[in-house]
Amino acid sequence: MLWRMKAIQVQRAGGPEVLELTDLPKPSPGPEQVLIRVEAVGLNFADILSVAGEYLVRTRYPMVPGMEFAGVIESVGPGVEAYRPGQRVAALGGSGAFAEYAVVSSRAVLPVPPSMSAAEAAAFPVSYYTAYFALQTQAQAKPGEWVLIQAAAGALGTASIQIAKALGLRVVALASREEKLELCRSLGADITLLSTQNNLVEAVKEATGGRGVDILMEVVGGAGFAQSLKMLAYRGRLLVIGSASREMAQMYPVSLMKGNQSVIGVWLTPFLSDPAAMQAASQFLFPLVASGQVRPVVGERFKLEEAAKAFSFILDRQNTGKVILEP
Ligand code: NDP
Repeated sequence: MLWRMKAIQVQRAGGPEVLELTDLPKPSPGPEQVLIRVEAVGLNFADILSVAGEYLVRTRYPMVPGMEFAGVIESVGPGVEAYRPGQRVAALGGSGAFAEYAVVSSRAVLPVPPSMSAAEAAAFPVSYYTAYFALQTQAQAKPGEWVLIQAAAGALGTASIQIAKALGLRVVALASREEKLELCRSLGADITLLSTQNNLVEAVKEATGGRGVDILMEVVGGAGFAQSLKMLAYRGRLLVIGSASREMAQMYPVSLMKGNQSVIGVWLTPFLSDPAAMQAASQFLFPLVASGQVRPVVGERFKLEEAAKAFSFILDRQNTGKVILEP
């Protein structure tokens, strides 16, 4: 019986350099909890922000990062009826997945279809639920509308292209390199544009017959935010989903009046404690996965001890799809 496990621990706020491989006691599940042997961890930009102490919720150190993963149930705590040891599952929410074993609430556990590998299952929860809540719940997208997706070759971006197409939307995908745009086209993006090109606003207007986009998934923030607002169509909705630039954005709310436009926040975390919202999302997402219409894009894979390298890979904008850590 193994009583200790490898884990990545963080003692203080910082960048990749504060991720330390260590040896911790193997956790055990309490009431309504499940202990999972971790097979693959999905890396999120939010992990980077959380380790840096720049996330929406305050980080308490020491901490073990990691909010989504897939693996096999090792044991269940008192009161858990729905799961048993040996089941392949994914988990969403919380922290502690940068380790060989992780304990989560049984409410955070998701089923894994047999067709999915552990890496695909770890790449699924955060990006696909966020894409659904952004486009369907918050933007109330209608078939035929145009959506612009920033960082479209990334984890959330590739998921968003697939969900947008499933909702019958037309997609403008932005990314920083031509190979990334190639991936976006392979997933069904209708128009692809380099985010670095000059006259981006004009290019987006031209691609949409002069109107601009009905929905814009803003994940970069900072100086580009003002430019995003200019790409919106009449009654367009700008979804504030992230701030990868880590810079403040400025806006003048009055500028929204002329076009009856909206700026809408989107954060996955509060939806996780809304069972009705989660059920609606699952009912939409799982048939798409089962039919193969939606398939998570797994990007580079790193070993658990290479977590710092994996963070740098994302910060250097090298990644496509979801970066995976494997214990
Ligand atoms: P990605 O896999 O998309 O990786 C980040 C990508 O952001 C990079 O590949 C890069 O793509 C782009 N980027 C733009 N500017 C920068 C920068 N200054 N530094 C680094 N990357 C930059 O990550 P995620 O899918 O995990 O997250 C994407 C965004 O969505 C993040 O802002 C994240 O916080 C947000 N998010 C929000 C959620 C929510 O609930 N609100 C849930 C999930 C994600 P390129 O090179 O093409 O520009």
